[in-house]
Amino acid sequence: MAKLALDGGKPVRARKDFLVFGAPQIGAEEIAGVTDSLRRRWIGTGPKVGEFERAFAAYKGIPASRAVAVNSCTAALHLSILSLGIGRGDEVITTPLTFCATANAILHAGATPVIADVDPFTLNIDPERVARKITKKTKAILPVHFAGRSCDMDALSRLAKAHRLKVVEDCAHAIETEWRGKKAGTFGDAGCFSFYATKNLTTSEGGMILASGEAIADRVKRLALHGMTKDAWKRYSDSGYVHYDVVELGYKYNMTDLQAAIGIPQLARLEKNWKRRRAIWNRYQEAFEDLPVDLPMDAGRDERHGYHLYTPLVRAGAPRNRDVVLAALTAENVGAGVHYRALCDHPYYRKSLGWKRKDCPLASDIGDRTVSLPLSAALTNRDVDDVIEAFRKVLGK
Ligand SMILES: *Cc1c(COP(=O)(O)O)cnc(C)c1O
Repeated sequence: MAKLALDGGKPVRARKDFLVFGAPQIGAEEIAGVTDSLRRRWIGTGPKVGEFERAFAAYKGIPASRAVAVNSCTAALHLSILSLGIGRGDEVITTPLTFCATANAILHAGATPVIADVDPFTLNIDPERVARKITKKTKAILPVHFAGRSCDMDALSRLAKAHRLKVVEDCAHAIETEWRGKKAGTFGDAGCFSFYATKNLTTSEGGMILASGEAIADRVKRLALHGMTKDAWKRYSDSGYVHYDVVELGYKYNMTDLQAAIGIPQLARLEKNWKRRRAIWNRYQEAFEDLPVDLPMDAGRDERHGYHLYTPLVRAGAPRNRDVVLAALTAENVGAGVHYRALCDHPYYRKSLGWKRKDCPLASDIGDRTVSLPLSAALTNRDVDDVIEAFRKVLGK
């Protein structure tokens, strides 16, 4: 077995070729789109944001009037919760195996996040555990389609219906995801997407809300721009000055044309990139079969996986623990990530909400063992070979 770079051996890749985790695929079309906006000097919210909203809505098969572009998924989640009338004194049940933004958005709306632990195989929120967390104060369920694998939307929708709860889907990993032929983000009252740099589709920073009806879409749109009436958006058009009214206290969450200019060509390549990531995901599954790791599970029947993350779990009996694996991969000049350390293991939530490890033992265990390997459509075949070589080397006995 080759000597690890961590122990002074030769790294799999040269230092100058460090493989950055989550590097986006940026093509000539994105560069041309941004340049075009700059040349026209239309750099704020304008026609390209509208075009991007229409294209995204068309991809999802919903009316364009129900898609609202914002500047992040965090903003999308925050506005979705607010627009559903959820706030102080209300509880929202979510997963502990997610990015902090999911819980933070609930807190920013003034409500209290309640965690229901995950199914250790799908890594998604477990509907049976959700049922046990429902109280008189529960107003909504906020599932996250982890890594791009859909949550059990039948079970969650049934629970929501029985208890009159709202559903807000965190689709940050799940643009291409489907559950029984229905697209992620179209199940509940609102679906929230992220176009952060590492996501399946990027606008550098950005987000989108798919609302279940016009009323929610209108409210979200108003809240995204200072609480100004809908016509305020026309200030950004060439039809001349339009008066607006401020009718409630809103935020500054609008997307810009520079961001949309990146997103439009990204959306056109979405399916091609999805196929590429699926191929890489499958190569990893075969290449790591004999390693001391628990491989991620593919989607079930009638489901479509978004293949956003590839997250093997390092077994307790492996020659190196997760943190050493991360350091060893870095030394081989292969970047890796962690998605995620469980929310109940972060000091802020422990202090302010009293969460403990025993509140989400399954997510905590996953958080201790998980490694995310590069899975961007920008990876070359050689990059994929290097990831495989490095991960096998690091986990070899
Ligand atoms: C990335 C991410 C977010 C936040 O997205 P931003 O666009 O960066 O605000 C929220 N939830 C999950 C699960 C994410 O992965």
